[in-house]
Amino acid sequence: MDIPMRKKQILKYLHADMMKGCLSLTSRSCGKPTCSTCQKGGRHPIYLFGFSFEGKTKIVSISPKFCKDVQKLIDNWHRHKDLIEELTDINLQLTKKGLLKENDK
Ligand SMILES: [Zn+2]
Repeated sequence: MDIPMRKKQILKYLHADMMKGCLSLTSRSCGKPTCSTCQKGGRHPIYLFGFSFEGKTKIVSISPKFCKDVQKLIDNWHRHKDLIEELTDINLQLTKKGLLKENDK
């Protein structure tokens, strides 16, 4: 594929919603004295989302019904990162050839 074509394709992909962080599945007790699961020594699955914000690492729990959507947004971020690396390379090549134009979309 030629460079301007690939660049157009990447710029199209970059218009995606995303989240930067990682989702992990763990388990914990809910702490309710009436919970039969915890009374039997069981634990509840819980999804945790770890991310950094304003230089601090944070972890929040994510409702299981949203974990698939969150994972999708995280995947978008990973793809986005790779695409930006490729886009940087493409723009460098265009710069060397004297073909870089900011509004070339
Ligand atoms: Zn419980």
